[in-house]
Amino acid sequence: MAKRVGTVRSVRALRKRVAAWRAAGETVALVPTMGALHEGHLSLVRLAKKRADRAVVSIFVNPTQFAPSEDLGTYPRDEVGDRKKLAALDTDLIFSPTEKEMYPPDFSTRVQVADVSEGLCGASRPQFFSGVATVVAKLLIQCLPDIAVFGDKDYQQLLVVRRLARDLDIPVKIVGGPVVREPDGLAMSSRNAYLTPKERRIAPLLHSTIEDVAADIAAGRPIEDALTAGRERLIAAAFDLDYLELRDAQSLKPIEDEVDGPARVLVGAYLGRTRLIDNVAVPRKRP
Ligand code: AMP
Repeated sequence: MAKRVGTVRSVRALRKRVAAWRAAGETVALVPTMGALHEGHLSLVRLAKKRADRAVVSIFVNPTQFAPSEDLGTYPRDEVGDRKKLAALDTDLIFSPTEKEMYPPDFSTRVQVADVSEGLCGASRPQFFSGVATVVAKLLIQCLPDIAVFGDKDYQQLLVVRRLARDLDIPVKIVGGPVVREPDGLAMSSRNAYLTPKERRIAPLLHSTIEDVAADIAAGRPIEDALTAGRERLIAAAFDLDYLELRDAQSLKPIEDEVDGPARVLVGAYLGRTRLIDNVAVPRKRP
């Protein structure tokens, strides 16, 4: 049977555990999550265990990244299930702080990462990335891990976190893990639980469409043509499209004429009331 995983709820207790590991010469990885864990999250925990001696998983549904109209109140929570899944992976510690621990009543600081936060998800969710940047900066400073692991699934978020760690000289290596998908291609997400059976049947089209757009672009189809075809396909299938774009994989700048380096096709769309995002790399042209 898997052993139990300890849970700490205060920064002080977290620091004490991490300090003991460090004193023993061990390395530490942090995997920040909002809980309701699925295989996507668990793949990051496995990666963390591979790259460091100790893996800490934080579970905190961060209120500062939700707009008042969004799903903070109904966001799925499953602390007991999460603890079992993490125990099976030999996770070393769960950090599950209270809201008061993270944001005392006079909390006054906001971290804002310009540039990579702008456009894509940042355009329609204006407070989202500053909420993410604020909580991730806090988690990194609270834990001071050697590495922190984030999923490619939230690709723009991964770049925001990389920029934040670099700009603020936080001594941590940010590691990205590949997107984990359902057998039909839908990227795993805690929010998939909101989909009705009918929406769930339509949802994999998000992934197949961006795969097709990426393949068409790699095959030399004019970029705007390929993007337009992808957008039209999703709209026809009842998605309320937020964006479908081709961007430079490092800078997230738009690519208009020609792909001459790593590039990604990114999409954000509502299916009914559920917001879904996904992204894929554009395959490299053979020389
Ligand atoms: P969340 O709990 O949604 O905030 O996600 C926590 C971390 O898990 C983030 O770094 C996400 O990018 C990552 N993640 C979520 N879904 C997936 C997935 N399907 N594949 C890989 N990573 C994921």
